[in-house]
Amino acid sequence: MFPTSFEYHRATSVAEAVAMLGEHPDAKILAGGHSLIPAMKLRLAAPAMLVDLTRVAELKGVTLGDGVATIGAMTTYDELRFAEGIADAFPAIPEAINVIGDQQVRAHGTIGGALAHNDPAADLTAVFLALGGRVEVAGSSGPRTIDGEDLFVDLWTTSLEPDDIITRVILPLAADGARSAYRKHAHPASGYAVVGVAVAIEAAGGVVSKASIVVTGATSKPTHAAAAEAALAGKAFDADSLAAAVSIAADGLEINGDPYASEEYRSQLIKVLTRRALEAAMSR
Ligand SMILES: Cc1cc2nc3c(=O)[nH]c(=O)nc-3n(C[C@H](O)[C@H](O)[C@H](O)COP(=O)(O)OP(=O)(O)OC[C@H]3O[C@@H](n4cnc5c(N)ncnc54)[C@H](O)[C@@H]3O)c2cc1C
Repeated sequence: MFPTSFEYHRATSVAEAVAMLGEHPDAKILAGGHSLIPAMKLRLAAPAMLVDLTRVAELKGVTLGDGVATIGAMTTYDELRFAEGIADAFPAIPEAINVIGDQQVRAHGTIGGALAHNDPAADLTAVFLALGGRVEVAGSSGPRTIDGEDLFVDLWTTSLEPDDIITRVILPLAADGARSAYRKHAHPASGYAVVGVAVAIEAAGGVVSKASIVVTGATSKPTHAAAAEAALAGKAFDADSLAAAVSIAADGLEINGDPYASEEYRSQLIKVLTRRALEAAMSR
């Protein structure tokens, strides 16, 4: 199907894009287009105008410094996974990107688009939350920061206002090294996560000071496996604490079922993938 007709505007700065969104309430941002364009072709979205950010240079790039990684929202998956220092600081990022879609999707999809779209089966949303990320946003009411814990509201819904643009994604660098990992069971037809699990563990001196375990695919939005996180906190990061956390990884989660994967199957996958992700993190 063809999309409904729309106007197209190529922005050259964030200020120009914010102004366009303010003047045209039915406009939408176009980033990589790999979620928005398919939705328009299915007529699930029918914006009157697209404001294209692909030529906005200030939204590109990755830097590490002052205890954080700063990632421009229009940085593509490929640019991000190969950016200097990213794989060392956040092993979960290339692990997730390597299993997103195909090469065309990875060449065009952007981190800002992935977070703003908040597909319930997206991969980077879970990684971003597990890593304790936040986003910087520009909008008609001025710049502000949204903590990752406040960004994802429900299926395909975020706390962004209609004229908000994610400008940068900020990820804190772990104090004691990089114990993060991502494991996914992909749907064989779509490649999206039936279940994905992102973990980020801080364990200075072998004792877990911070455990973040986030599930995607099984829940309406990326969600902390809070019972498993609590089981690890303050414990030695070893086989016993790992097994205890895995056994209750699905507890307390509102898990969705569908004809392809029942709630029970997804619950089991959460445990299996939590174990694999924690074992990978432990080996780092
Ligand atoms: C064949 C195929 C397979 C895929 N497989 C996977 C997969 O396995 N895992 C996965 O996670 N994803 C998958 N995707 C989705 C892909 O990751 C998308 O690229 C991503 O979800 C959206 O990023 P985008 O840059 O393409 O955003 P767009 O499609 O351009 O935009 C998506 C939405 O976000 C808004 N938006 C974009 N950028 C911003 C911004 N900076 N600020 C505010 N709003 C913004 C847009 O207005 C739109 O509403 C797949 C897509 C395709 C086509």
